[in-house]
Amino acid sequence: MNVVDSARMLSLLSQADYAAAGSLEEADLVLLNTCSIREKADQKIYSELGTLRGWKQRRGGRLVAVGGCLAQQAGNALRARAPHVDIVFGTHNIARLPEMVQRAERREPSVELAMEGDVAHWEVAPHLPEGATSAMLTIMQGCDNFCAYCIVPYVRGSETSRPSAAVLAEARELADRGVREVVLLGQNVNSYGKKEGEIPFYELLRRIAEVDGISRIRFVTSHPRDLDDRTIGLFSDVEAICPHIHLPLQSGSDRILGAMGRGYTRGDYLSKVEALRGARRGMAFSSDFLVGFPGETERDFLETLSLMEEVRYDSAFSFCFSPRPGTKAAGLGDRVDPAESRERLLRLQALQERHGRERMEEAVGTEVVVLVEGTSAKDPEMLCGRTPCHKMVNFTKGKESGPFRTVHVRSCGLHSLSGEER
Ligand code: SAM
Ligand code: SF4
Repeated sequence: MNVVDSARMLSLLSQADYAAAGSLEEADLVLLNTCSIREKADQKIYSELGTLRGWKQRRGGRLVAVGGCLAQQAGNALRARAPHVDIVFGTHNIARLPEMVQRAERREPSVELAMEGDVAHWEVAPHLPEGATSAMLTIMQGCDNFCAYCIVPYVRGSETSRPSAAVLAEARELADRGVREVVLLGQNVNSYGKKEGEIPFYELLRRIAEVDGISRIRFVTSHPRDLDDRTIGLFSDVEAICPHIHLPLQSGSDRILGAMGRGYTRGDYLSKVEALRGARRGMAFSSDFLVGFPGETERDFLETLSLMEEVRYDSAFSFCFSPRPGTKAAGLGDRVDPAESRERLLRLQALQERHGRERMEEAVGTEVVVLVEGTSAKDPEMLCGRTPCHKMVNFTKGKESGPFRTVHVRSCGLHSLSGEER
């Protein structure tokens, strides 16, 4: 979400006659788009702002802006701690960026944090790089779930779905500009439209699949509680829906899932995984895991590992619990010792690495259809792109042209496949 918001900021700044600079020394303005999901992310911003204080002193007249979740959460306190910041803007104020920059150029600082009554951020089209074949498409903002550990509902506001007509119009526009894959974005895509009485998520997927030129559809994030049978059924009925789902588990222990307020059990989760596997052959799974939630015992943690053994995820993001201000879990006792938490994280990551590697190895010797994203970072003579299961592939070019290439996979690393075009 922050990536697509940054692309929106880039397109707004170009309206104010700014363009991306090659280096800090060339820049007139530095904009930090921040995250506050874990404490470490928020400490990084303050350390970055410390560096920028020196830069501003050296280069008089330069500007510093801070947007995103941390800006929303810290608000005026951010300028009190870092007075050299000229602009602080919240998650719902992105559209006002050009105006705030113009004011800052006149030496008038801005702090804009209003959560309502502003232009929805999705009305600002994100900057789309030349030749892009894949693009993110915002369908919702905010979240109403209030999982006990999570700061998102406080800094991104309540859940709101974008009108389906606007989503479809953007999908058509992206297709006209050469995009072949859209990634639908929302904190809980399965509850799309429920509050607004819009079409349900599975219907939105169906309509996007009918847009001429869109051949691949992905979505993040599916909440395991709200993923319904109709949506699961689309994995078998609609070819454009990619055979990969990001389905964050967080914990494999029912006791911890209950304390987190996730609204599903281990059994519910596993039966959805099974239904998805039944709907599409070769389905790939990825997840988020949170270890060391208050009260998590070794036994709870082993349940997470055993569920991982059952699913064998292709990839995963995993984190140690980080208490966030204002959330329910921040006030809970029975904290897990940070060293213990870290040790569990390393064990989980070692298991995931084994599963990830095994899943990669299964692709060696097969033929895959790759949507080309550009030149390979490993070798400028090679191209790179993704398989329908979201695996990165670096490959030697053949004679074909166009965005889709059939590639014979010869080998794999931990994070990517290698091969040659047929
Ligand atoms: N909406 C998504 C869902 O419900 O799965 C998750 C969005 S959240 C921005 C991304 C991930 O950050 C979560 O799945 C969780 O694993 C992690 N996370 C959120 N709050 C956290 C916290 N306080 N400490 C550590 N990790 C956290
Ligand atoms: Fe945070 Fe996701 Fe839970 Fe919403 S559903 S509160 S974004 S973890």
